[in-house]
Amino acid sequence: MVNRSLQQVISGVPTTDGAGVQITRIIGTSELNMLDPFLLLDAFESNNPEDYIAGFPDHPHRGFETVTYLLAGRVRHKDNAGHEGVISPGGVQWMTAGRGIIHSEMPEQEDGMLHGFQLWVNLPASEKMQAPAYQEFSAEEIAVEHLGSGVEVRVIAGTTDHGTRGPAENTFVSPLYMDVLLPAGQKFTQAVDEAANAVIYLIEGELAVGFTHSKLAPHQLGVLQGGKQIVVTATVGSRFLLIAGRPLNEPVARRGPFVMNTRAEVLQAFDDYQNNRF
Ligand code: FE
Repeated sequence: MVNRSLQQVISGVPTTDGAGVQITRIIGTSELNMLDPFLLLDAFESNNPEDYIAGFPDHPHRGFETVTYLLAGRVRHKDNAGHEGVISPGGVQWMTAGRGIIHSEMPEQEDGMLHGFQLWVNLPASEKMQAPAYQEFSAEEIAVEHLGSGVEVRVIAGTTDHGTRGPAENTFVSPLYMDVLLPAGQKFTQAVDEAANAVIYLIEGELAVGFTHSKLAPHQLGVLQGGKQIVVTATVGSRFLLIAGRPLNEPVARRGPFVMNTRAEVLQAFDDYQNNRF
């Protein structure tokens, strides 16, 4: 087993999106434009309503999946096909935009903490124009693995080394998406497809990665390269996301909410959106 090492550390860029929501863009900037198949990763964390109350009014998506994971707060989503729901703390919405949806994502709260993540997972060319689909899981539907010594793994997608399997399905990139609580001094290991791209986002604490013990600080994303196993040790009590997926290795043409293979397909998406063909 060759352990993955820390190849790159990304701090992300504070920015606003939607109607004025304060976010940190971690993947999808000039620092890390994409990490195939991941197109974007945003983190939002605030207890100031001014940072989130404006939400994300109606906007389109085509050609990929959005994965929203909330740690705190509530978000109501509503699309132009009549699909509507609320994501609650610990809940996940894995949305396949496919050929296109128009939706809103609005905070279902006027105060208090809103904390979560949105990841964009690319779709292969053959699936970009598939019908939109949703996989939605409440906190209770997420698989939780309790190991000894207080280690706790919430598994959204993929299977842990101990066999706990997350509910979300994606056969195109075979993703891992895990939320790990690791007490001080504890080690966490996870097998990963050698071809997969893998990252760790540290929510809190301090993590030593691999045998080189390169360290990650809170709010940093570590890109992990080269190997079939991820090994991290918490130097203090830590919580982190582990996300991995096989690259699609296809050309990417993206502009705003449309991610296709060619520029012509992106222009077609704008045309379809403007002419009410979503
Ligand atoms: Fe959206």
